[in-house]
Amino acid sequence: METKQFQAESKRLLEMMIHSIYSHKEIFLRELLSNASDAIDKIYYKALTDDTLSFEKDSYYIKVEADKENRVLRIIDTGIGMTKEELENNLGTIAKSGSLAFKNETALKDGHEIIGQFGVGFYSAFMVADVVTVMSKALGSNEAYKWESKGADGYTIVPDDKKEVGTEIILKIKENTEDENYDEFLDEYQLKSIIKKYSDFIRYPIKMDIPTSKLKEGSDSEFEECKEEQTINSMVPIWRKNKNELTDEDYENFYTEKRYGFDKPIKHVHISVDGAIRYNAILFIPEKTPFDYYSPEFEKGLELYSNGVLIMNKCADLLPDYFSFVKGMVDSEDLSLNISREMLQHDRQLKLIAKNIGKKVKSELLGLLKEDREKFEEFYKSFGRQLKFGVYSDFGANKDALQDLLLFYSSKEKKLVTLDEYVSKMPEDQKYIYYASGETIERIEKLPQTELVADKGYEILYFTEEIDEFAIRMVMNYKDKEFKSVSSGDLGIDTDENQNDTVSSENKELFDYMKNVLAEKVKDVRVSKRLKSHPVCLTADGEITIEMEKVLKAMPNNQNVKADKVLEINANHEVFTSLKDAFEKDKEKLSLFTKLLYNQALLIEGLPINDPVEFTNDICKLMA
Ligand code: ADP
Repeated sequence: METKQFQAESKRLLEMMIHSIYSHKEIFLRELLSNASDAIDKIYYKALTDDTLSFEKDSYYIKVEADKENRVLRIIDTGIGMTKEELENNLGTIAKSGSLAFKNETALKDGHEIIGQFGVGFYSAFMVADVVTVMSKALGSNEAYKWESKGADGYTIVPDDKKEVGTEIILKIKENTEDENYDEFLDEYQLKSIIKKYSDFIRYPIKMDIPTSKLKEGSDSEFEECKEEQTINSMVPIWRKNKNELTDEDYENFYTEKRYGFDKPIKHVHISVDGAIRYNAILFIPEKTPFDYYSPEFEKGLELYSNGVLIMNKCADLLPDYFSFVKGMVDSEDLSLNISREMLQHDRQLKLIAKNIGKKVKSELLGLLKEDREKFEEFYKSFGRQLKFGVYSDFGANKDALQDLLLFYSSKEKKLVTLDEYVSKMPEDQKYIYYASGETIERIEKLPQTELVADKGYEILYFTEEIDEFAIRMVMNYKDKEFKSVSSGDLGIDTDENQNDTVSSENKELFDYMKNVLAEKVKDVRVSKRLKSHPVCLTADGEITIEMEKVLKAMPNNQNVKADKVLEINANHEVFTSLKDAFEKDKEKLSLFTKLLYNQALLIEGLPINDPVEFTNDICKLMA
């Protein structure tokens, strides 16, 4: 018999399972029961929509059997089964995009992380079993196969004589160790309570033979031990239950059981609508960003059920992109089972549900912002960027829905503030909402461009994410106040214009000379109205700021869009005197100073210097 090798990543995951880095070993049962339930979902759905398949509800169930003597636990389902190829592909490789994390060695070292992020599914069986055997017969196939593995060394697949369609998993439960009592996974009562805890609302009966005692036949006092088949789970889906009867823990268990995520959701919303359109929904706002969230592989969507039957795993049309982080499900009796993906897109009912859900999520988030700022900020850390993308995309069509959820770091408060909080504290004479862009808060804090605005006592919002400035351009104004970059031409702050004008006109030739030295690099060199203590800074005329130029440059379809840069000189700084002096006496020196100042301004902006060698040589010339 040929032993096949596991795919490398699967093998590593398996090894981790075998060496059991995870303390809640009991979850293996949840994982296997979920798989069984999914497999029945598939056949159930097929039978409902395919007339050639007969369908009887009673014939769909899951059975759990414990055999203490032989240390064997069996999980049998009447689901869709697996072909030989499916056994090989589904159980020999990790389909999950776990591959990404496996490249990350730190994640590998910490097994919890991995389980925390991906769940482990079928392989969790190896936490409690030395040998795992899977016998399966796929729907529509005449052959059955047996897959078997003793762990990381590989697996075998041979034909089997299983008669019924479905899957049977046999676990050879490990011997007890000093720290671990594996016997509990063979004890009917323990198993029963694990099933109740994690899998109560599985839609199909999970049956077990539970030991009881009954009166001996023909006797009225003598009892005998026997087993009685019981259905362990209540089978009522959680979304059909009354909200008042459910605890936070019930929702959290549902979230985990459904593998919506492996974090603890920040919030759940249970919706029951019974009007023109009827539906139940349970929505979750996750706490942590899924590892693939900001990658093209991420698929948004909610599970869609038609009257309790799953018809789609990820119905994207139910969620706007800016709320793509929402997880959960919708069940509506008004949707047709036979509906195709294409038809669904145009379905009026579905559109209505989607609209309701969008509104509901927004109001829940606003509620969270108001009532539990700390939690909201945690959410914002994970998904704030997505909200900003939402403001920016579709030419700002959704900004009204989202702008009140935005938070930015405030120069004054030293924490995140909403736009509303900013505007409500603006002094009478402040015309604009000011912002400054940079890589980090620390860097922005030191930007010379912020000097005048800060000196006026005005609050500045710090934009540290690439999307920020683009998103704010779409918002344009908030409560009639326009946004203004601290680097923009006109800051709307009264300065001594006359003095500036005189300095400018008196030194026109000096500035022209400097502009010439810098040629195409800058559009202008002029006296700064915003600098107080720093000698120079770069600003931009026109729509494109320097921050935006940086972002656009990094984009794949970079169109080489450039900001109209202006080199601003602080006329009150002693450097200015040196410039004037050099202009009178030594033009070469003036050229040197100009280049140095320009390069300094670039460095302050976090922009690369064109020729660092020349720059350092220039400094040496100064020192010489
Ligand atoms: P996941 O369930 O997250 O996809 P698993 O490792 O648990 O990952 O299972 C891998 C795949 O094996 C499943 O997606 C499913 O296609 C198949 N599978 C597992 N258990 C069963 C089962 N009892 N019946 C049919 N298919 C199954």
